[in-house]
Amino acid sequence: MTDLTQNQPGHTAQNPGDQLLDLTLHDGSGADWLTRYGSSLLGVFGTPQRVLVRGNGCTVWDADGKEYLDLLGGIAVNALGHAHPFVTSVITSQLATLGHVSNFFTSPTQIALAEKLLELAAAPAGSKVFFANSGTEAVEAAFKLARRNSAPAADGKPARTRILALDGAFHGRTMGALALTAKQAYREPFEPLPGGVEHLPFGSIDALVNAVDETVAAVVIEPIQGEAGVRPLPPGYLQAAREVTTRAGALLILDEVQTGVGRTGSWFAHQPSGVVPDAMTLAKGLGGGFPIGALVTFGDAVSSLFAPGQHGTTFGGNPVATAAALATLHTIDTTGLLSHTHDVGAWLREQLAAVGQVTEVRGEGLLIGFDLDGDYAAAAVTEALQQGFIVNAPTPHTLRLAPPLILTRHQAATFIAALPGILKTAKDVTP
Ligand code: PLP
Repeated sequence: MTDLTQNQPGHTAQNPGDQLLDLTLHDGSGADWLTRYGSSLLGVFGTPQRVLVRGNGCTVWDADGKEYLDLLGGIAVNALGHAHPFVTSVITSQLATLGHVSNFFTSPTQIALAEKLLELAAAPAGSKVFFANSGTEAVEAAFKLARRNSAPAADGKPARTRILALDGAFHGRTMGALALTAKQAYREPFEPLPGGVEHLPFGSIDALVNAVDETVAAVVIEPIQGEAGVRPLPPGYLQAAREVTTRAGALLILDEVQTGVGRTGSWFAHQPSGVVPDAMTLAKGLGGGFPIGALVTFGDAVSSLFAPGQHGTTFGGNPVATAAALATLHTIDTTGLLSHTHDVGAWLREQLAAVGQVTEVRGEGLLIGFDLDGDYAAAAVTEALQQGFIVNAPTPHTLRLAPPLILTRHQAATFIAALPGILKTAKDVTP
């Protein structure tokens, strides 16, 4: 079998943990691993497509030694690709210095990251950050924040019991985030969900304006709906949402778990609109592959809604996760990755639009969805894997790309060259 320890930055014979990792890397083919997976892991994800054993930049390798161009980046997570030397070194140094403290204490990396996020978000004075470990936890914190905006008005006005989200929304799998998520198949098996959530027709400013009044605690919106197939909001929607929520005293909460941290070519996808939200959730790309989530609250009033003790987490904001995020933000900042993401994304979308079987291309930066002229996206994912490309199919007729932001135009071009063949085969094999 191929020596899978080759070309693996940081994995040298000197590392004391090598023996354990070598077992992991060498003990079995992909098929062997999948058999073991089937008898040891809960079947919530179905059968994994491949067993991946290592990565470097935009490339990953499976247990059988096959190489792939990763155009999905762990679903918008591996912002700097795999095994990024700077992120790896910062994580390693921090872990070797101080790995975890409880939230009875803090650490310099936690504070520095909160300050950096507030600076990048151009958040007004009094803005604050809460750290979690994932997207759904960041959304859960936002949901509780909305409830804190729900107290009945002193003058006898009705309580703010309603939280509005959009059709097609995906906000996560824990109960509060699931209540905000629209898809029935995800929701129904777990009802009753936390109450008060209503879903509005996607993109209808009229529906939004009609729905928002003083009974609404918050409106929760993704600037681009990733899981729904990379659907951007229509122009003017965010501005209308800001106007109507401000007027009604409702919070405008933007879920930037998928769109944030440079993914769309801006630090945060809402920024080009000029809208300042009341809160923003982050996760995915923030840690460059290391798990971390965050809730950013804008301004003093919103940042004071939680009293001490009303929310918390054991791991959230730990020194290693916050160091990983600092390293990721620093690298994006100092290597010009925002404009690179913008440029490569624009080029990729232009090229995709010229492919025969592609009917529509959407997205910003390197969050891209494109529709096919039929429901054969699943077969296209399989054929792309055969040909050495990782993509995904959020809907039966849509493919999504969310590659590392370091993707080069040359790498993108290899996919564009292969795509017509991939789509032709996929269409032919789909009944
Ligand atoms: N919010 C959005 C917009 C997402 O895209 C996701 C995940 O895809 C989540 C929340 C949930 O994040 P996580 O899977 O880290 O819990």
